[in-house]
Amino acid sequence: MLLHPSFDVNAAGHLTVAGFDACELAEQFGTPAYFLDEDAVRAQCRLYREAFRESFGGSSLPAYAGKALCCKKIYSVIAEEGLAADCVSPGELHTAYKAGFPMEKVFFHGNNKTDEDLRYALDLGVGHIVVDGWDELCALEKIAAEKDARPRILLRITPGIDPHTHKKIVTGSVDSKFGVAVATGQAFGFVRDALGCSHLVLDGFHCHVGSQIFDTEPFEDACDIMLAFIAKVRADFGFEAKILNLGGGFGVRYVEDDPEVDIRGNIARLGAEIDRMCALYGVEKPAVVMEPGRSIVAAAGCTLYTCGTVKSIPGFRNYVSVDGGMPDNPRYALYQSRYTIVNASRASAPADFPCTVAGRCCESGDLLSEDAVLAEPKRGDIIAVLVTGAYNYSMASNYNRIPRPPLVLLSKRGAEIAVRRETYEDLTALDL
Ligand SMILES: *Cc1c(COP(=O)(O)O)cnc(C)c1O
Repeated sequence: MLLHPSFDVNAAGHLTVAGFDACELAEQFGTPAYFLDEDAVRAQCRLYREAFRESFGGSSLPAYAGKALCCKKIYSVIAEEGLAADCVSPGELHTAYKAGFPMEKVFFHGNNKTDEDLRYALDLGVGHIVVDGWDELCALEKIAAEKDARPRILLRITPGIDPHTHKKIVTGSVDSKFGVAVATGQAFGFVRDALGCSHLVLDGFHCHVGSQIFDTEPFEDACDIMLAFIAKVRADFGFEAKILNLGGGFGVRYVEDDPEVDIRGNIARLGAEIDRMCALYGVEKPAVVMEPGRSIVAAAGCTLYTCGTVKSIPGFRNYVSVDGGMPDNPRYALYQSRYTIVNASRASAPADFPCTVAGRCCESGDLLSEDAVLAEPKRGDIIAVLVTGAYNYSMASNYNRIPRPPLVLLSKRGAEIAVRRETYEDLTALDL
């Protein structure tokens, strides 16, 4: 096993992904291409569902955050595994709908939903709209009245927690474009006004503290703040929250020195904390929702590239250029995200060639890693970047007019294309 159960090395010395030989996959589907171990995704879904049943009980349910990886096939898998879903745009809603996802199990997020977005969500029968602020509350009340609808809502609350992750992915602190803060007292006014909306049915509250979080402390802190908030709201307004949605954010191991995350243990600790706080405040235990994205799909995915130019600059460093880069994986350029990169063609040879792995864009920031150590690659070798199941395909662009790679699902049934490779014709299809 290499980092996660989906990755290994076979007798030919090639990397395997979900048991498939990476070099054969590259041959069959071309490069660059994304591969996803479907059975590993299903296993993560089951792990979450079982942990929720054990530790949260009632009608508690994990909701897959589609922004991590969004396409019809994924929503079908998620629906089959019985999870709810979190969508953050009308495009994601549309994709879920086209996949036949049960829309009553969808939470619709976003800090700036347009009137059109809200109308579309109501037309599709979205289960809960997570209202982010006063403007949206008023807009939704008006639209619901026009449509004579009674949408169910959660209110997005910022508990004011800095989970000590990268600043660009911190969203739960008070100074945030998302939600309404407890710390400023504004959250109470938000609840009062929501309860005053005759067309909206308030079911509870949502918060999200951040992403790639390795310990449970930020989540436990969020539980404490949110349950104290729920207790005060009940005392002030007589409103008992039925749902507490704690958002996403469990971390994933990208490199050897990242810790392993014990999802079941973390959820058990959160369950115990929620029970303790509910008893302390004498509030009814709400149904708990969490919205894992990364921790469902990241470790099941990898991207295969073909090695092109290998260049050594004496006294400086080695560059290994691959046939993809920031258009298919912008995370290094955005956040200096660390990855494990393997020469899939020589996976049992000693990794002793330190290098910077670069993409093919006209942009010097187009890098995938600056501290990779590979078995020395030759032009034509297959290079694998592991743990790319989340925030790769979903963040891909056509920068430099590079067609987006296909997404291939791997399972015991075989290899199945979930999203086909873009063609040059696709690239000009919208040009008039
Ligand atoms: C990003 C996000 C998630 C998913 O976060 P992960 O780190 O991928 O688990 C869930 N809910 C909300 C509201 C988000 O913004």
